[in-house]
Amino acid sequence: MRLVRRHGWWITAFAAFALAALCRAVGLLQTLEFAAADARAGLFARQVESDIVIVGIDAKSLAALERWPWPRRHHADLIARLSGAAPRRVFLDIDFSSQSNALDDALLESAFRDWSGEPIVLPAFFQAVTASDSTPQLTRPLERFLPHVQLAAVNRRPGADGLERAWRSSWTVAGQRYRSVIDPEASLPPDSEVPIDFSISPASFAYISYVDLLDGRVPPAALAGKTVFVGATAVELGDMVPVPLHRSLPGVVVQALALESVRAGPQRSLPGWLTLLAMAGWALLCAASLRARSWRRNATVLAGVLTLIAAASLYSYAAHRLLLETVPFVLATIAVFLVSTLRFLDQQTWRAVTYALGMRRRDALLRSIVHSSTDCIVCVDEAGLIQTANPAAARLFACPANELVGAPILRYMPGLAAAIDSSRPDVLAALDGGISEWDARPAAGEVFPVELAVGRVRLHSERLYTAIVRDISERKAQQRRLEHQATHDSLTQLPNRAALMQRLDTALAVDGAPQPLALLMLDLCRFKEVNDTLGHDVGDQVLREVARRFQQTVGAQGLIARIGGDEFTVLIDGQETRAAIAMTAQRLNDCLRKPIDVAGISIEVGLSIGVAQSPRDSADPQTLLKHADVAMYVAKRRGTPFECYDAESDENTVRRLALGSELRTAIRDGALELHYQPQVNFRTGRVESVEALLRWSHPTLGQVSPTEFVAIAEATDMIRPLTEWTLGQALSDNREWRRRGLDIRVAANLSARLLQDTVFPERLRVLLASAQADAASLELEITESAMMLDPARALRIIQEIDRLGVLIAIDDFGSGYSSLGYLRDLPVHALKLDKSFVQSMRSCADDRVIVESTVQMAHALRMQVVAEGVESEWDARFLAAAGYDFGQGYHFSAALPAAACAEWIARFNDAEPRVSRTLKHVRASGG
Ligand code: C2E
Ligand code: CA
Ligand code: CA
Repeated sequence: MRLVRRHGWWITAFAAFALAALCRAVGLLQTLEFAAADARAGLFARQVESDIVIVGIDAKSLAALERWPWPRRHHADLIARLSGAAPRRVFLDIDFSSQSNALDDALLESAFRDWSGEPIVLPAFFQAVTASDSTPQLTRPLERFLPHVQLAAVNRRPGADGLERAWRSSWTVAGQRYRSVIDPEASLPPDSEVPIDFSISPASFAYISYVDLLDGRVPPAALAGKTVFVGATAVELGDMVPVPLHRSLPGVVVQALALESVRAGPQRSLPGWLTLLAMAGWALLCAASLRARSWRRNATVLAGVLTLIAAASLYSYAAHRLLLETVPFVLATIAVFLVSTLRFLDQQTWRAVTYALGMRRRDALLRSIVHSSTDCIVCVDEAGLIQTANPAAARLFACPANELVGAPILRYMPGLAAAIDSSRPDVLAALDGGISEWDARPAAGEVFPVELAVGRVRLHSERLYTAIVRDISERKAQQRRLEHQATHDSLTQLPNRAALMQRLDTALAVDGAPQPLALLMLDLCRFKEVNDTLGHDVGDQVLREVARRFQQTVGAQGLIARIGGDEFTVLIDGQETRAAIAMTAQRLNDCLRKPIDVAGISIEVGLSIGVAQSPRDSADPQTLLKHADVAMYVAKRRGTPFECYDAESDENTVRRLALGSELRTAIRDGALELHYQPQVNFRTGRVESVEALLRWSHPTLGQVSPTEFVAIAEATDMIRPLTEWTLGQALSDNREWRRRGLDIRVAANLSARLLQDTVFPERLRVLLASAQADAASLELEITESAMMLDPARALRIIQEIDRLGVLIAIDDFGSGYSSLGYLRDLPVHALKLDKSFVQSMRSCADDRVIVESTVQMAHALRMQVVAEGVESEWDARFLAAAGYDFGQGYHFSAALPAAACAEWIARFNDAEPRVSRTLKHVRASGG
């Protein structure tokens, strides 16, 4: 390939030469060469000065002399006439090879004999050689004429196209040479082909009718010194010869033309080898001048070169009678041109052609993409008129595409008018390259939002914009839904915490002075119980109803939001007085006064409200919210309907909030401990049971009282895992003790919340089973207040616990609403007198009465009685004397870690039974 590229030009030359030479050799070019020669002859057609006179046996003569062949005496008479005129030479192209009647032949013979000038020439003709007969047949005049005449060969040899183009100087047949009429003096090379010059017009000859000459109507001067050819010119006589240019001519005229061609001078042509050499040189020259140029330039060169060939051919013929072959040169030139052009196209144009084809394909592809796109795609010109629109555009604008074309884009998107840059003429220039949102106004139907992407395209000199318009109604609606979801609570449809914070941010972010406002934090009381005991469905309905009532109460006065499970806020703009706030709080409280009926149950929920005001309490949204929360906790603790934020009461609440989250991790990570406080049986003087008490050693705050953190756990959902951990731990410690031979019952405290939890008994059963513990070794301490929330439910749960075999004790008896009435119905095993009575009985006689009468009453109900807070020997003696079964207090021991407690008990029980001694002592002294 490299070779072809580097040496291409002379390879081209060689190929062109070889092609032309080959075509020439096999005669493919002959016809063209003939056509060129004929064209040249036509171009040079002329009359010449000629002495030839044609005496034609024409139609007129045939008509006058009737019957053909004529009697030979006419020819004898003609010869006599000619003899009188003394022509230079006479060629009688008439066949005298056969005999006619004796008289006529004798007359003719004497005419030949009497002829005085150059002997008359008569035709001789050879029959072609056939396969059967190798000697040619010679047809010549009768023997008797021969001594008086000359012979001329009249054989013809047509060219490849069947036309007579040349005449031979002579024919050599069987060693005998017969000259033709064109070479009377034998001056031409023997047997050479002499091209007939058809540029010589047959009109150059004088024509005389045979009959006119015969009848003496031709003056002798017309023939004197002339060369006279006598022959058939009438078409009927069939001696017509096909020739170029004239189609056909009488044989005698053709011979006259051939003779005249010889007289005009020899027509030469180059020898074959020289022509080939010239062709080779020519091919090289062409290849050199046509190489690696643009085909346009080559075409010009080609035209010039072809003209040059034509001119050279004409000139050489005209000036030197040199017949140049033109066709091989033309062929070589065209071949070189074609190859050069193809080679050039290969490099340049092919690339352009394939590119153009590729472009067309890509164009079609793009068009189909645009057509099938579901996005509306329109082309808009500088004036804002739509130039093209795809089917999606027609759908989008509810208008046929052909109506869109030519219409201003502003008609369908009027909002764009605002974007037009008045300093620039193009309507869409300002939007170029960007994506923006607008409203679309279709030909029919509602306005809807669209997204518009504009791009500029330069098409020739025109500047166009493609506008891709997409209907974004669905996306917008979705966006609005998401926005609503993000800022609203799905249950109550009230604004959520995010919406509240947003609102606070905007209200408080005003530079300089923050807007005055009051933030009310509303927390439902007892809602957790509702949710835990009645299920989430009921809880949800309660929340919805609460939200509805709040909305009804506050109306447009403030913004209500739900920011947590049972936490709501009310945001009131403006500076409110305490009285105004109190009034709103009162109204909010009042709206929940009426019980909420859900699924046939009347549910009462209370409300605690905390208020923080901006800018007085804080101008920071987060802080303001926290302060409102603190105030709400204060209200809850104090049992007041509402509290305004007070920085002092804040501290406790902050601690409480912090402890809440830390407690959760402490439960999870097992950072709590369970200690045990022994309970001494006053009768046996031995420890038979212990009370499990939670201990939390906080890394920074030190020991945190269970009273504090259990209350926190109760306020949240942590109480359940906390209780389960305690019970599990107590049972496992208890099992460990039993394994070591310590048969001790363990009492655990049960939060009031668990008495409302219907699944608790089942959880307890699972715990007992997994600890493989005897249910009777466990006692649960419940408070009287735990019974108050929903006595019927509490009773059911207590009964279920009892059925498991677990013992139940009433803790802190006497501290709450002591009502002995319900004790009768409960499966209670023991009462624990609140330690406040034990503490006060030392100084107060009334309390001593309560302490003593409680024992009577409990024993009457067949319950055991436990005294708590036994701090002194006196306490123990008094209580034992009063009939108490058990005593528990610092007098014996504080709560101890499990192992320490076990050791303590072992030691205590092994020692001398001090208590029974005490008991004896009490009985002895007290009477
Ligand atoms: P409680 O059930 O009345 O427990 C008895 C409390 O009295 C314990 O306080 C105990 O340490 C204390 N105490 C014992 N002997 C004396 C004494 O001689 N004098 C005085 N003044 N106090 C004595 P503690 O451990 O601080 O527990 C406080 C409360 O925390 C308990 O009162 C109980 O209501 C609650 N609590 C403790 N552990 C648990 C638990 O595991 N679950 C639940 N739900 N509550 C628990
Ligand atoms: Ca207790
Ligand atoms: Ca107690």
